[in-house]
Amino acid sequence: MAVDALCSPLGPPACEKDAKALQFIEEMTRNADTVQENVMAEILGRNAETEYLRQYHLDGATDRESFKSKIPMVTYEDLQPIIQRIANGDRSPILSSHPISEFLTSSGTSAGERKLMPTILEELDRRQLLYSLLMPVMNLYMPGLDKGKGLYFLFVKSETKTPGGLMARPVLTSYYKSDHFKTRAFDPYNVYTSPNEAILCPDSFQSMYSQMLCGLYERKQVLRLGAIFASGLLRTIRFLQLNWRELAHDIRTGTLNSKISDSDIKGCMVRVLRADPDLADFIESECSKDNWERIITRIWPNTKYLEVIVTGAMAQYIPTLDYYSGGLPKVCTMYASSECYFGLNLNPMCKPSEVSYTIMPNMAYFEFLPHDPNSSTGSTSDQLVDLVDVEVGKEYELVITTYAGLCRYRVGDILRVTGFHNSAPQFRFVRRQNVLLSIDSDKTDEAELQSAVENTSRLLNAFNTTVVEYTSYADIKTIPGHYVIYWELLAKDSSYFPTNDVLENCCLAMEESLNSVYRQGRVECNSIGALEIRVVKNGTFEELMDYAISRGASINQYKVPRCVNLTPIMELLDSRVVSSHFSQRLPHWTPERRR
Ligand code: AMP
Repeated sequence: MAVDALCSPLGPPACEKDAKALQFIEEMTRNADTVQENVMAEILGRNAETEYLRQYHLDGATDRESFKSKIPMVTYEDLQPIIQRIANGDRSPILSSHPISEFLTSSGTSAGERKLMPTILEELDRRQLLYSLLMPVMNLYMPGLDKGKGLYFLFVKSETKTPGGLMARPVLTSYYKSDHFKTRAFDPYNVYTSPNEAILCPDSFQSMYSQMLCGLYERKQVLRLGAIFASGLLRTIRFLQLNWRELAHDIRTGTLNSKISDSDIKGCMVRVLRADPDLADFIESECSKDNWERIITRIWPNTKYLEVIVTGAMAQYIPTLDYYSGGLPKVCTMYASSECYFGLNLNPMCKPSEVSYTIMPNMAYFEFLPHDPNSSTGSTSDQLVDLVDVEVGKEYELVITTYAGLCRYRVGDILRVTGFHNSAPQFRFVRRQNVLLSIDSDKTDEAELQSAVENTSRLLNAFNTTVVEYTSYADIKTIPGHYVIYWELLAKDSSYFPTNDVLENCCLAMEESLNSVYRQGRVECNSIGALEIRVVKNGTFEELMDYAISRGASINQYKVPRCVNLTPIMELLDSRVVSSHFSQRLPHWTPERRR
């Protein structure tokens, strides 16, 4: 039977519905090249009369050869003028023959603002289809998930309108607010403890509080616990640390905290709340202990695994997750973006370091740009390789052509081929290009950090002081994590060194200069803590260079790393810190106006 190839030693599909989903995966991956060919023909056929494709004179051709010879590879910046026209209200078929239904705001930024990804209504169905494959795969490896519930902390973020009236919001906000999610059919394998009303509340405190309260009431039913990103799950643990007394009070009395003012939440919590003094005692006794090691399994004793993304930048959180969960398996189910959902992990119980995602060939047309970090020559579209032609062990940048009209668009993710499932390749997420610092969904690149330091160092002019060198570090020992910037300062007059107040203002000025995803994380989501500047002794960066040279770096080629994470280097820097300063205020952030 077709599904055999996917069966784990634990057994066959859990139910008829799962069998169909697994069969679908088999069909798609067995016929990956044909599926891709059809996807290409469908996209080019339906979008033939768009302004974008017409300029390349495909003249109705829908084959791969014509596509490859005529359509260029592009970046977001190339498309930005077109995207801006759509955002401003031009409803003519520019990128897609189907109307652009909304913009999905990526956590990737361009000129400091979230990128706007056009999407069309039917993409929701495609995303839904990928979601529908996740549990059938999971059920192969973890039987009995229909006997309990999932405690998933899911959140919506704020949304705005473009000048032309289109909605602009993150892809998950769009999904949670869609009927696909809100009126989903009951599936015993996929029951959440969080009510829709709690997930859909835009106030992050009220949303998290009520989701946590529901999770505590149903603590014995919870079989799996998750959030989208590892950083998000850790934030919920921190939330529990800060709010367990109030939560326990609500459970003891069967009443709802007065801070919860959202009427939809209040309405649905009436069905959940009940006075349960024994549960309240238990929560208080566990949470009042100084040691929070294994708190997840202590409070939710039947949890079999955590479901969070711990690949890519999130790998940094694995040790902390292990600490709080006693090393529960960490399951990464899918790989997706605002542009397009890409694929899923067919071996979800594997170790985080072994996670590979199988790209589903029906989601978009996928091409791969061979990635050579040492090559200085530019990449061209004639280097692009098709999905089924990638080679195991090689690294590629992902390039996609979507139904919504992105053509040969560089996503910016670097992936390594680890193998194949049938003829569909499987990829390890290596990294996102040009990301220096990341705590949550923020991505700060070297140029952004450099310009933030330049903007900020002007505050030191009055003190005749300059920043001679700097580097940075994403400190995740705090929850939420925060950016640390090491500064070596040169003061012309050492008796007139910048004061603590000035350096605190510098922290804030740095934050004001960082991109809007960073500032939203600080202000709306509370997913990033206050930026810290650590001033180091003069000569520290020379010592850093000496260390690198002693480890084999060439003197001529040595460049100060703008981000550090190796323990000996961190220890060296930290041992030279003379003072440390934190931002005392939140930077400015409002939902972006789209010009
Ligand atoms: P966004 O555009 O904000 O939706 O972010 C999408 C990006 O998040 C992708 O292009 C990846 O860089 C990253 N991402 C998404 N899923 C994963 C995953 N499973 N593992 C690692 N990184 C991921």
